[in-house]
Amino acid sequence: MAHPTDKAILFDASKCTGCRACQVACKNWNQRGYTETHNEGTYENPRQLTSQCWMRILFNEPEERPRSDDEIYWYFTKYQCMHCTDATCVKVCPSGATKKHKVSAEDGEAYVVKTDPKQCIGCNYCVATCPFQACRYDEGEKGIFRCVLCLDRISQDPEAFPGPEQASPDMQNAKDPYPLRNRPACVQTCTSGALDFGTREEMLAKAKDRMEYLKGKGKENAQIYGENELGGLHYIYVLEDAPAKYGLPEKPTVPAGVHIWEALVKPGAPWGGLALVGLAAAAGIGYVINKRNEGLERQASGGGE
Ligand code: SF4
Ligand code: SF4
Ligand code: SF4
Repeated sequence: MAHPTDKAILFDASKCTGCRACQVACKNWNQRGYTETHNEGTYENPRQLTSQCWMRILFNEPEERPRSDDEIYWYFTKYQCMHCTDATCVKVCPSGATKKHKVSAEDGEAYVVKTDPKQCIGCNYCVATCPFQACRYDEGEKGIFRCVLCLDRISQDPEAFPGPEQASPDMQNAKDPYPLRNRPACVQTCTSGALDFGTREEMLAKAKDRMEYLKGKGKENAQIYGENELGGLHYIYVLEDAPAKYGLPEKPTVPAGVHIWEALVKPGAPWGGLALVGLAAAAGIGYVINKRNEGLERQASGGGE
């Protein structure tokens, strides 16, 4: 299970205005390029994550409006890698390129998922089996890309940045314990206060308070997403309704085939790759390979921005 002192991002869907400043900030900070897109009758752009676009805002339009006087309504979702505690991509990576990283030396366990392009062999197993379809291979850069929780920013020593007392008047009024450049770029840029960053314990407490507030305002379906899914995500969501309405899987799981793959094929597995026999092994290995082929087809038909 994720540790309470792990860092996490809170996304409050009830505050998001769909401005996509976070999406632009992510591309800007991570120096990602662009690809051409076409208007498909939605404000979503691109239509899926790419190696150049690590997060995107989903504009989910319900068939029935939550209120009769709503002429137009969207369930906005910030969508990217969730930094799962039980991370499928880490389990399937045969080269050890995809692994979890600590944010600070005090962390008991690593939890920020990142791929080292130098070690990546381009097998695409992680792309194919991710329950959120959140990572992408780039043929030109020969590597896997996803949200990296701005590890380069959040792992900086907070003391190296001005605290609230030395910061701008806005920062001082914010009374924010996390200095400006020590927060993820998307969080720092959010225009409506929909994004927050801190320890998982803090973010969950804020999420629960907000959920209770929303319930008190008549949003009886308000709920939290990410607390327990896949051992705990490092993105915590406040939703006003069911996850499916936001384009989030209701019960993301690590497929059984991936566990078999991890036990039998991955380097360092107890069976050392020798037990590639038997129905269970064949089913597990076949599952990962088939998913990988499906994923490559999906990626080939992908979007741009
Ligand atoms: S969301 Fe996908 S890419 Fe991100 S940690 Fe989970 S399994 Fe890996
Ligand atoms: S945490 Fe950093 S890498 Fe992840 S979506 Fe936000 S800006 Fe992008
Ligand atoms: S910057 Fe904030 S309000 Fe704008 S789309 Fe992103 S999360 Fe929503």
